[in-house]
Amino acid sequence: MSIKDEQTAALADLIACPTCDALYQNVEPQFQQRAVCTRCHTVLSAPIKGSVARIVALAIAVVVFLIAAVFLPFLRIEANGFKNASSIFDAAFSFSAAHLVVLSIAVLILILFIPMARAALLIFALSPLLLQRPPFRGAYLAFRWSEDLRPWSMAEIFVLGVGVALVKIVDLARVEVGAAFWLFSILVVFNVFQDTLLCRSSVWRALDRARNGVRND
Ligand SMILES: [Zn+2]
Repeated sequence: MSIKDEQTAALADLIACPTCDALYQNVEPQFQQRAVCTRCHTVLSAPIKGSVARIVALAIAVVVFLIAAVFLPFLRIEANGFKNASSIFDAAFSFSAAHLVVLSIAVLILILFIPMARAALLIFALSPLLLQRPPFRGAYLAFRWSEDLRPWSMAEIFVLGVGVALVKIVDLARVEVGAAFWLFSILVVFNVFQDTLLCRSSVWRALDRARNGVRND
């Protein structure tokens, strides 16, 4: 083994704290235990038994819910005998000025397409592991992209924004929230669950084990 190979192998045994860069030996904690950075208390690894199956199940639910939310009514507003029902596309494209079309497209990308892309990438990267098969080529890249997209997935901010807007107009008009609004609200809860279950270092280890033909629990 060359010196470079030895150095690479030695580095693979180390894990860096994502917050303060402190280096630790990469020892996998038992299920329900956590590895915490002693310097800044960031959680480095917190494996949960069966988390891969639950992450994939939640990702499938996110895809189904988002597709359903596109077709179901989002809001129904009634004021002075005038009724208007709108879908999520109507809500995003409600800016009438031409130069705000860019904003509408950005809203749709952030609330629909990025959450859907994240879920699809997770399903692609992790579903072979459930069947005790090696991951697809590109699974590592797919998981990295899904993590990179995490800060840009803004369905919860959208639900919060709509909630605030509804409180403001509730005196002026009768507002009924549609099924799509509730689907988005449930998606917020799913996202919280998924973030709790998704321990990045455990997923990388699970991918490594599957690639090397070792069974994942
Ligand atoms: Zn740290």
